Amino acid sequence: MTDRVTFRGVSKSYDGHQVVAPLDLSIAAGEFVVLLGPSGSGKTTLLNMIGGFATPSAGRVLIDGEDVTDLPPARRPTATVFQDYALFPHMSLAANVAFGLRMKGMAKAERLARAAAMLDLVGLAGFGGRGVHQLSGGQRQRVALARAMAVEPKVLLLDEPLGALDLALRRQMQEELVRLQKRSGATFVHVTHDQEEAMSIADRIVVVNQGRIEDMGPPDRVYLKPATLFAATFMGESNIIAGRVARVNGQEFLVETALGPVALRGAAVPDDAIHLVLRPEQLQLTPPTDGIALGRARVEELSFQGTHCRCHCRMEGLDLILRAPVAAGLRAGVEVNLYAARGDVVVLDG
Ligand code: ADP
Ligand code: MG
Repeated sequence: MTDRVTFRGVSKSYDGHQVVAPLDLSIAAGEFVVLLGPSGSGKTTLLNMIGGFATPSAGRVLIDGEDVTDLPPARRPTATVFQDYALFPHMSLAANVAFGLRMKGMAKAERLARAAAMLDLVGLAGFGGRGVHQLSGGQRQRVALARAMAVEPKVLLLDEPLGALDLALRRQMQEELVRLQKRSGATFVHVTHDQEEAMSIADRIVVVNQGRIEDMGPPDRVYLKPATLFAATFMGESNIIAGRVARVNGQEFLVETALGPVALRGAAVPDDAIHLVLRPEQLQLTPPTDGIALGRARVEELSFQGTHCRCHCRMEGLDLILRAPVAAGLRAGVEVNLYAARGDVVVLDG
């Protein structure tokens, strides 16, 4: 099967400064891919190289196996929803949505019918005659989406399209985007710096840092078994514990840490210097099956979060973050024993 989008050795520099390192990336047809990374990591640049708004300094971009590197945006089977929506303020909503169809030479009656259908699809049926200034942020976002979807792109590119919306609306739009994507069958490439948004909408997350891909995979895999320390800290909170491999016995190895020795198992024995990664919800107050006793910790601070308590704990000079059940009734100043399931511990080299 041919990929929908392929990057082959693509890199990008501005004024001799490399912002995207040479990389390969394949995106399948019908996939919902999220590019996740901090501000300045190169997400928009990656998206723009698919859409034709940025030209790679080296490498090729293919869509359905065809080299589009030198094609302008209008000649690519892509459409983009920009971060600021970029609606035309002097045009009606219908004219905004029909704009790309007009550029393609579709007759007026047909394109207005399509625009009405697209507005209907994004929950703005009957809004076609209104002006952009009459809309809330969320409604503008929907119009931008309808305009991009109207041309039936094979690939829809979304650059932080939900960034300006409040939390409740953002959640609702996330669900709607997923529905729209599954219904249309289009490939979506969506940029965000919000890891919760990435996890809730992506088939596959690509974690980007300083123009490089740190990790990529389904959200649960990237969260539970991050490939790098950056991925572990950017995709949700992590407790990172430095260690040294002290003794190896077949598939078992002993790691010396500030918390004392930790016995682990793994198919591949890691390097000498390593880090152990444990999520706050993986620290436990009672010993699990095949558990490790990490030791005794003092609860320094805690905050009630409704579904759990988030606690800062101090143990052997380390600060650990614990997500404790509310029912445990922890208070600042108490001491607790902490455990982890051996299988939850992620071991990363370096
Ligand atoms: P992100 O979308 O992840 O915030 P960008 O892709 O916009 O990151 O930018 C990545 C880096 O490239 C940043 O350091 C940014 O300043 C730089 N950059 C982006 N566009 C240009 C440009 N047109 N000219 C010069 N530098 C740019
Ligand atoms: Mg950006």
